[in-house]
Amino acid sequence: MESSQILTEIYNVSAELYDDMSDVLPNKGHTKIFSYLTRLGKVLVNADRASFWKWDKKAHVLWTAAATDADTIVVPESKGLVGKALREGRLIVTNDPYSDPDFNPEVDRKTGYVTRSVLVMPISNIKGEYIGAYQVINKLDGGFDPAEDSRKLSLAAVICGLALESDVFLDESYTDRLTGLKNRMGFYSDFGWKYDTAINQSGHCLSLFICDIDKFKSVNDTYGHNAGDEVLKLMADILSSCCTEGFGVYRWGGEEFIMIMPDTDIEACVDKAEEIRKKIESSVCHTSEADITFTASFGCAAFNKAKTIAENIGVADKNLYIAKETGRNRVIS
Ligand code: GH3
Ligand code: MG
Ligand code: MG
Repeated sequence: MESSQILTEIYNVSAELYDDMSDVLPNKGHTKIFSYLTRLGKVLVNADRASFWKWDKKAHVLWTAAATDADTIVVPESKGLVGKALREGRLIVTNDPYSDPDFNPEVDRKTGYVTRSVLVMPISNIKGEYIGAYQVINKLDGGFDPAEDSRKLSLAAVICGLALESDVFLDESYTDRLTGLKNRMGFYSDFGWKYDTAINQSGHCLSLFICDIDKFKSVNDTYGHNAGDEVLKLMADILSSCCTEGFGVYRWGGEEFIMIMPDTDIEACVDKAEEIRKKIESSVCHTSEADITFTASFGCAAFNKAKTIAENIGVADKNLYIAKETGRNRVIS
């Protein structure tokens, strides 16, 4: 491609990204950045394919946050040139992958694609820890030049890194570390879009309940804080296991949880709460201190579209208060 053509392409992809970003679907902003910037990578170095890989250090896998002409690919972190670039923290280039012992030919074998050249740039966060990698495959005019091509890709790679870091940061800030459930911030983030149809379209309804573990302070006082944490985790597992598809469960704070149920009327909401109440009552939390049994109280509410979220939660909260006042281990609507 002529330089002027390349520049035009760069401007086109950038402008498309800019326009698309102003129409951000909830939580899709990062995905867009990754996908436009991998498209851009192809143009910048005249490659056939480009992909951006996220390193999931907990699951020990690498997966494509975006890839031109390919579906999501997940590979073990120990395999392939992307893994090598991240482990060794350096640029990897090969123009003869099939004779490179670190090249993982499995993806080619599965898809029928033939890789002839590869360039991988590891990408770090602002603390200098490697978090992902930018890869281009099959330079269309010859092989990759490590110095020249990595220089051309560097800005796109850095922006992908920043976007990935912000994506991870958002995810973490919406997640409660102890239980793995979404937290209150995650709840407010979801509320703006996930339950939108149920809240705003006629013919749809929404219900919710708040539940709170009974006498939880005495669990901590009797068995210690760690055992208390185990109870909270079991509570979260029970709620998640009973969470019908489309519903959402959140740690509202402390030993309080909230479940949001689109297209569910108050009777079905009460049934769901009762199902969970019974399950909690008959569960045993095995801790190193003791086998602990516990109960929880529930306050339900049918979402009133004319009221704010806070007012609706207030209704559920009031019912929870009544459940506590009238003996605990019960569901009130
Ligand atoms: P009630 O039946 O009226 O709800 O009584 P309660 O003891 O459950 O309520 P209270 O509000 O008095 O106590 C809640 C306790 O939850 C106090 C607090 O230390 C504990 N707690 C909050 N967050 C955590 C946590 O993350 N881990 C542990 N172990 N305890 C927590
Ligand atoms: Mg409590
Ligand atoms: Mg409480």
